Amino acid sequence: MSTPTLLILPGDGIGPEVMAEVRKVIDWFGDNGLPFEVSEDLVGGAAYDAHGTPLHDDTMAKAQEVDAVLLGAVGGPKYDNLDFSVKPERGLLRLRKEMDLFSNLRPAQCFDALADFSSLKKDVVAGLDIMIVRELTSGVYFGEPRGIIKEGNERVGINTQRYTESEIARVARSAFELARKRNNKLCSMEKANVMESGILWRDVVTEVHAAEYSDVELSHMYADAGAMQLTRWPKQFDVIVTDNLFGDLLSDLAAMLTGSLGMLPSASLGAPMANGRPKALYEPVHGSAPDIAGQGKANPIACILSFAMALRYSFDSGDAATKLETAVEKVLADRLRTADLLGEEGKTPVSTSEMGDAIVAALAG
Ligand code: NAD
Repeated sequence: MSTPTLLILPGDGIGPEVMAEVRKVIDWFGDNGLPFEVSEDLVGGAAYDAHGTPLHDDTMAKAQEVDAVLLGAVGGPKYDNLDFSVKPERGLLRLRKEMDLFSNLRPAQCFDALADFSSLKKDVVAGLDIMIVRELTSGVYFGEPRGIIKEGNERVGINTQRYTESEIARVARSAFELARKRNNKLCSMEKANVMESGILWRDVVTEVHAAEYSDVELSHMYADAGAMQLTRWPKQFDVIVTDNLFGDLLSDLAAMLTGSLGMLPSASLGAPMANGRPKALYEPVHGSAPDIAGQGKANPIACILSFAMALRYSFDSGDAATKLETAVEKVLADRLRTADLLGEEGKTPVSTSEMGDAIVAALAG
């Protein structure tokens, strides 16, 4: 097979700083038998400054061609007063929309060394490793009709929850595939007790399961009960699949079980391309953190773990992904901490690049 291709879009604020550390990791894998053909381009405010648009058409075309896109973060106060159509975030939204990235993967993984960081008891979160799959391109955030209308003397706000069978089936398949790569357990969450779209969701997930994935253990849960179970005993789950609205809430809830924003990676996947790899965008959950940009304080781990997801989900290199995650775990166990992970400990933090260097050293060690 030809060398896998990767488009890197560092973006704004701490984006370029954390991405520089990912480049060290990519170079290490390149030197150790797993090379990537890497290109780099602009997105967000950086693209606006250069081209007057948050995503140039040429960059969009490149993103459609490569095997995976890795993005840092976009936005910042400098761009707050721009017209909505050219705001940095529009660049990211355009990528997600035109690549049709319908399946959003948000892991909630708790490294033992950080278990004290959670608001829950240590034994509830230590060793936690679950994945929320959120439908990203349909549902109530996109359904029509929508708007604020006048009815008699008062205003009425309207949004429509709408899902087609094929939209449900494709995200369900993506979640079943993921479950097969993990512990073979999938829990589907909706509100079939009060919503017709929830009844259809449950029916379609059940049909896809029976026809194509009967080897995976499937359960169903109402999303509100799911939220309770996630805080009561999250380790009962492996993969959770849910719609856009419930996924928005449940993935934030699950992610925060594990501590800092600087630790959270994500993947957004679309349909398979001609070479069998899914369209894919990997990015940390955090934003451009203008309050700490340029100071060497950013935690690069969320972005590095996003690359680990790329290794696993785009490049079929699960062993390399595990090696990278283990390197991160080792560095944390050695008590290296960027400022966001120090809490009340009062120790001296390491810088962004010191953290990156330590992870590369752990990979080599
Ligand atoms: P943010 O995620 O940038 O920052 C929130 C807080 O977390 C800040 O105190 C920040 O210093 C801290 N933080 C975030 N990432 C960190 C890291 N890796 N290491 C250490 N600390 C970290 O969210 P915000 O402040 O609400 O938004 C800032 C800008 O980022 C805005 O312009 C917003 O629109 C944009 N944003 C972009 C994305 C994205 O690119 N996907 C996501 C969220 C926000």
